[in-house]
Amino acid sequence: MPTKSFNCYKVYLLPDKEPVVKMIIGIDDTDSREGMCTTYLASLLIDELSGIGTLITNPLLIRLNPTIPHKTRGNAAISFSIDCSDPQAVIDHVISRVSQFSRLECDTTNPGIAFVMDEQLSQVKNELDDFFKRAVTDVIPIDDAINLAQKLGLEFRTFKNGRGLIGSLAACGAMLNSGWDHTYEYLAYRKQDVWGSPRSVDIDSIYEADRNTYPETWDSVDFANNLVVCVPHSHDPVLFGIRGTSRTSVTEAAKTIISEPVERSRIFKTNQGTDMHLLPAECISDIEDMHSYILEGIVLEKAETIRGGHSIFVLGDDLGNAIECAAFEPTKNFRNIIRKLVPGDRVVVYGSVMDKTLNVEKINIFSLADNYEFHNPACPECSKRMKSAGAGQGYRCKKCGTSAKELETIKMEREIELGFYEVFPCARRHLAKPLIRFEDCEFPMFPGR
Ligand code: ATP
Repeated sequence: MPTKSFNCYKVYLLPDKEPVVKMIIGIDDTDSREGMCTTYLASLLIDELSGIGTLITNPLLIRLNPTIPHKTRGNAAISFSIDCSDPQAVIDHVISRVSQFSRLECDTTNPGIAFVMDEQLSQVKNELDDFFKRAVTDVIPIDDAINLAQKLGLEFRTFKNGRGLIGSLAACGAMLNSGWDHTYEYLAYRKQDVWGSPRSVDIDSIYEADRNTYPETWDSVDFANNLVVCVPHSHDPVLFGIRGTSRTSVTEAAKTIISEPVERSRIFKTNQGTDMHLLPAECISDIEDMHSYILEGIVLEKAETIRGGHSIFVLGDDLGNAIECAAFEPTKNFRNIIRKLVPGDRVVVYGSVMDKTLNVEKINIFSLADNYEFHNPACPECSKRMKSAGAGQGYRCKKCGTSAKELETIKMEREIELGFYEVFPCARRHLAKPLIRFEDCEFPMFPGR
């Protein structure tokens, strides 16, 4: 059998005439904070395998439960679908590349690869689809993944503790169900010899790409905070990533960007920007840590800003339960919205719960309560504020001798409008649906535009 070399690695050329077999491959947990990225490894594999007579379609970038502590960055898993004539050669190649490129020296890197073969597709569809939805919203033990893979008779490979099997099975499940809301991301990767060095991307060209394609693309720049957000600062191979509604829009934006040489690029279909992680919460007592919710309630206590700059208010439900809701420091100006809420405001909050606190990603303000402030009464003669006349003795103007029993109640203007508000792009979670994707959003706030 003839061979072809890719980056010093040899894979078999598949003969044209053999019967073609369909297979889905899921991969997760290959990188560490010091380098690599599972999307890069998948892109490399797709290019290598495409070069040997296979047909690869539909690569998926699936974001899973954003509260999982083991994640390196954004809790992503990858899958792609492949038509090939020698599945075993493909399986061997994928396993070899994952073992070669994964950051196995890192404690928290525990790769997993799952293979779903042609004849299994229809039988495993429902269970893998359920597993996918569970992996986005819930917390799954490793044993559940191993048991499921064994029960379904799937070919799989794990490294170290094998936690990556959770994500790789979930990504296969996503491939088997096309009914979920989706967006696209165009990822451009750096040449290997510059990994770890500062990225060279022309900032003006990113702003131009955004101007040309927004709102079909989003989160390339953060106008409110004057930041470029589509170029990472980490050691991984990603040069930039453009998010948008379609392959056309992300490609158009990417073509405008002037940068250092790109080694390869890939467009992934993804559940980013869909709010797929959010569960509707009927009441606060149903809420659990490490899950994400949409919760309606009434503000019970105004936001307090604690050390570190985090603003936290208390939300109550109709059953008398309460939960702390936070706009953390990285959400920057979004905290100004949260600080304007007062007791009695009716809101719906969207976000993940950790340590019994809901981290607000979006808020929809339904009704505003009257806001009163209490001041010492004004003197009817000189208009100056009276002073306290002593405990229980009301207030007196020293100059005019006038007095009053009660504090004066002043109704304050509310400095906030009804409607939806979201964190700025620099603090947005991958899964969080941007307001520009809400068709029925009446009061969207487009920060800084
Ligand atoms: P990478 O680019 O390597 O995928 P990442 O930020 O996406 O980086 P991982 O390194 O993959 O994070 O770590 C996340 C780990 O958590 C993976 O092993 C994945 O299988 C696992 N995981 C994902 N979702 C869940 C879940 N719902 N419950 C339990 N574990 C999960």
